Amino acid sequence: MCGPSHATIATLPLGRAHYEGISVNDAAAIESTSPASGRCLCGAVSYEVHGPMRPVWNCHCWRCRRWTGHFMAATNCRQEHLRLVSDHTLAWHHPADDPNVAYGFCGGCGGSLFWKVLAGPEDQTDLIAICAGTLDLPTGLTTEGALFEVAASDYHTLDPTIETLARE
Ligand SMILES: [Zn+2]
Ligand SMILES: [Zn+2]
Repeated sequence: MCGPSHATIATLPLGRAHYEGISVNDAAAIESTSPASGRCLCGAVSYEVHGPMRPVWNCHCWRCRRWTGHFMAATNCRQEHLRLVSDHTLAWHHPADDPNVAYGFCGGCGGSLFWKVLAGPEDQTDLIAICAGTLDLPTGLTTEGALFEVAASDYHTLDPTIETLARE
């Protein structure tokens, strides 16, 4: 399953303090495609990113698996760099067993869009994860690593070329 504690799990799609040797503050680790744009399936939620985005991490934890229907492939940015162009159908799901995180989705088409930590250290709450598949092309991003592969479902063949950033 997913991990030792909700607090630890909650930091994962965004967290950097938890991964020794990985820092999204390193200029070399940041792939900037700003200004980037994206939207949900129906287009009722659309956004722009006016700042650098982290390379994509694939999170296979059980929450991301069930929320996305597969796994979460997410980049992130600083919340202040995310501009919601249209958000009237944007809704947030707070898991009952982990209310400190929020999953942002479109109430119209159901598309998965965002993930964020609500309270905690600034290096977590300043950031917002963006489901990378919602970005307009070209994203300019690459996939950097995978989290929690052991929680991936049994039908899924993991890509051996993707580095593991965290195991549980
Ligand atoms: Zn939508
Ligand atoms: Zn996850």
